Amino acid sequence: MNEAQTALTADRPTGHLHLGHYVGSLKNRLVLQGKHKCLIMIADVQALSDNFDNPQKVKENIKEVCKDYLAVGLNPDKCTIFVQSRVPELSELTMYYLNLVTLARLERNPTVKAELKQKDWEDSIPMGFLCYPISQAADITAFKATLIPVGEDQLPMIELSNEIVRRFNRLYNSDVLVESEAVLSDTKRLIGIDGKSKASKSLNNAIFLSDSEKNIKEKINNMYTDPNHIKITDPGTVEGNVVFAYLDAFFEDKQELVSLKKQYTKGGLGDSVLKSLLNDVLQALLKPIREKRESILDDDIEKILIDGSRAARNVSQNTLREVKEAIGL
Ligand code: ATP
Ligand code: MG
Repeated sequence: MNEAQTALTADRPTGHLHLGHYVGSLKNRLVLQGKHKCLIMIADVQALSDNFDNPQKVKENIKEVCKDYLAVGLNPDKCTIFVQSRVPELSELTMYYLNLVTLARLERNPTVKAELKQKDWEDSIPMGFLCYPISQAADITAFKATLIPVGEDQLPMIELSNEIVRRFNRLYNSDVLVESEAVLSDTKRLIGIDGKSKASKSLNNAIFLSDSEKNIKEKINNMYTDPNHIKITDPGTVEGNVVFAYLDAFFEDKQELVSLKKQYTKGGLGDSVLKSLLNDVLQALLKPIREKRESILDDDIEKILIDGSRAARNVSQNTLREVKEAIGL
C-alpha cells in the first residue's frame, strides 16, 4: 500500500451509523484518507432495494450518514463524499454487468442469503435486491478502486466484483476494469448488542455513534453476559459474552483485558464491574463524536454532497465511456 491508490467504500442510508461501522470500516477510512484517493458513497439506490416502500426513510438518512462521517473525522477536503443516485452512470454500468453474472451465482452469495433469511419475502424476492452485488461491482469499478475498507460481510461482494472484472476484460479483450481488495480491520464483524452475529442498522441491535450518554449506558446494562454467571464467585464464560466482545473491540489495554478474562473465567469478577468499564470506554469514545455531530449544519452537508457527487460523476463518466468503447458500442 505504498503508492497512492483509490479507495472506495459505501454505507446504506438505512439508519444512523453504529459502532460496527466504526471499528469495521470508518477507522480504516480515517487512515486511508490521508494516504490514498478516497471515495465514500452513500448507497441510496442500494438501500431502496429493500426499502422501496419507504423512500422517505432512505432520503432522511442520507443526511444522517453524512453527519456521522464528519463527526468521526472524515474530511471532505481529503475524500469525496457522494450520493449513489446522483451518479446515474453507476446504474448504466450495472446494466452491462448484469449480462456477466448468472442467477445461480447470485443465489449462492452467503451475505445475500443471510439477509434474505431476515426478510419475509419467501418466493417474492425483488430482483433489485438479488442484483445489488452487481451494482456494487459497478460502484467499485467506476472509480477503478483497488482498496475497499469494509467489514467481513462484504467479502463475497468484492469476490463477485473481481469475477466481473476478469470476465469483462477477457470477453471484450480490454484492460479497462481493475480488480480490488478488501481492507479489513482487527474487528471484521462486531456482534450485535443482543448477541446476534452482526450489529446492523436493519436489526436495530447496535450502539449508534449518535446515541445519548443515557442510551449507551442502558444498552450496555442490557447486554448478555453469561447466563450461568449468577454469583460473583461463579466461574464465567468469555466466549459468546457480548460485554467481552465489545471490550475486545474497544478496550485498548489488551494486557489488562487478558487478566480480566482470566479472573472472570476463574470466578470473582462481577458483570457490573465489566459493564462499568465498558461504559467508561465507550462514553469516552463517543462523547466527542456526538458533540461534533451536533454542531454540523444541514446546509453544509448539502454542499458537500453536491460537490462530491459532481466530482464522482466526472470520473464515472470516463469509465462508462471506456466500458462502452470496449464492448464496441
Ligand atoms: P443494513 O442493516 O441496512 O445492511 P448495516 O448496519 O449492515 O446496515 P451497511 O451500510 O450495510 O450497514 O454497511 C456499511 C459498511 O459497514 C460495510 O462495509 C459493512 O461491512 C460495515 N459493517 C456494517 N456492520 C458491521 C459490523 N457489525 N461489523 C463490522 N463491519 C460492519
Ligand atoms: Mg448491511
